[in-house]
Amino acid sequence: MPRVSIRRTKIVATLGPAWDNPPQMTALLDAGVNVVRINASHGTPEVRARWIHQLRTVFEGRREAAAVLLDLQGPRIRIGNLPEPIRLEPGQHVVFAPELSAQPGEIPTTYDDLAKDVRLGARILLDDGLIALEVRGILEERVQAVVHYGGELKAHKGMNLPGIEVSAPALTDKDKDDVKQTGSLGVDYIALSFVRRPEDLEQLRALVPRGVKLVAKIEKDTAIKNLCGILDASDAIMVARGDLGVELPFEEVPLIQKQIIREASLHGKPVITATQMLESMVHAPRPTRAETSDVANAILDGTDAVMLSAETAVGEYPLEAVQAMDRIAREMESQRQTRGVTIDAALGRRSAEQGALRHHQSPPGGPIRTEDAIAVAVCAAAEMLSAPLIVCFTSSGFTARKVATCRPTVPVFACTPEPETFRQLSLVWGVTPALTEHSTNYDTMLAGARQQILERKLAQPGERLVVTAGVPFDMAGTTNLLKVEAV
Ligand code: ATP
Ligand code: MG
Ligand code: MG
Repeated sequence: MPRVSIRRTKIVATLGPAWDNPPQMTALLDAGVNVVRINASHGTPEVRARWIHQLRTVFEGRREAAAVLLDLQGPRIRIGNLPEPIRLEPGQHVVFAPELSAQPGEIPTTYDDLAKDVRLGARILLDDGLIALEVRGILEERVQAVVHYGGELKAHKGMNLPGIEVSAPALTDKDKDDVKQTGSLGVDYIALSFVRRPEDLEQLRALVPRGVKLVAKIEKDTAIKNLCGILDASDAIMVARGDLGVELPFEEVPLIQKQIIREASLHGKPVITATQMLESMVHAPRPTRAETSDVANAILDGTDAVMLSAETAVGEYPLEAVQAMDRIAREMESQRQTRGVTIDAALGRRSAEQGALRHHQSPPGGPIRTEDAIAVAVCAAAEMLSAPLIVCFTSSGFTARKVATCRPTVPVFACTPEPETFRQLSLVWGVTPALTEHSTNYDTMLAGARQQILERKLAQPGERLVVTAGVPFDMAGTTNLLKVEAV
């Protein structure tokens, strides 16, 4: 009987009107969605609460893990409500006004301090940079601007002011309300937009329920300057290319994407590559060749997850978009099976040009940590023994993340009794989470793992498994065991 093959790259899909009921949620999860993203920038708190509740119920009926990621708007400036889309023509003069005082004919914005932050000649970009204007006048709380590149402007589209330090706080009142209203409903990850410095995450950390993991969205040049500190303060990061490509010259995004992914992997933090990956699939059932290459290249860069935004939120082909990502990822992974694990690779010295930062070596030149040595040895043993799986017993997820960072050539079957860890590991590259019964007895845990592995057809009787864990089992952050067991 052939083994069931597991995709290692994870898929994050944005929830929206295109799949907002339990049968459709089930269909997209079946197609391979690992993490469901809910964008707090759109819709109402009531709808989001209903979605989270529905997702929870759908998750409970499934053996495969999945997680919910709530994406907070952060200090994002947006267009306010528009009764209908407006057409902006090059050369046209418009006036931006705070939402509450905007008169008919003016463009409302959600940011009251726009007039304080901009200066004459500044650029205003709308809708991920598709529409461009230049500031021509500032009149108390109003901003006059001339359109350079026009287009159709819809309600609530984003507004970027490249090169201008927006004075809005990192965590807005809306974000705090969203955390209060939805954070307690059981989300697994909370993402913060427009992170500028590590303190932004610390501020959020103080508000979210314990155990919820934080994702820093990297979409400002300030964040790139503070990347190491932000990585230390967060549990995962997102290369948010939509706003990044507007805040910075777009031609800088490809190399910055590679730099962020590399840095995240050296810090052992999962990374999501996001925005416009299969954008044309909003209206078409097949991706363009360029989009296919983009997803493939993000995987080659070493991203943990690839993300779908409008493609699934409001697209005409949400299911096909997920299927396309699944196919691209599987094809890329099938070509990489033969790559050998070397100690250098696992220690973050994947190649000489990758720079000097070697997170696994701690401190520089100091002793190698036990968990790193075990993780390297586990990957090497799995490869040498042609093991179909690495089995990992973990309560916090620490051991599984450690091993996954070494990018083993076989999947990591992560057994945990903690439902929260089970869901959160669904974001991590290469990890297949399994919910097992709580036990502190090694033989009982192994029996539980064996049963699930055989049920899921992930290995065949007689094959060897490489097992790793931290002993004692109830202490987080102690990876110190390596054993070889027969299935
Ligand atoms: P961000 O900067 O956080 O990515 P965004 O406006 O680009 O914000 P996405 O989540 O990337 O939003 O989604 C892309 C588009 O899909 C949005 O501009 C919006 O038109 C639509 N969309 C997303 N979520 C929803 C939703 N819950 N309800 C309606 N439309 C949505
Ligand atoms: Mg977006
Ligand atoms: Mg963004």
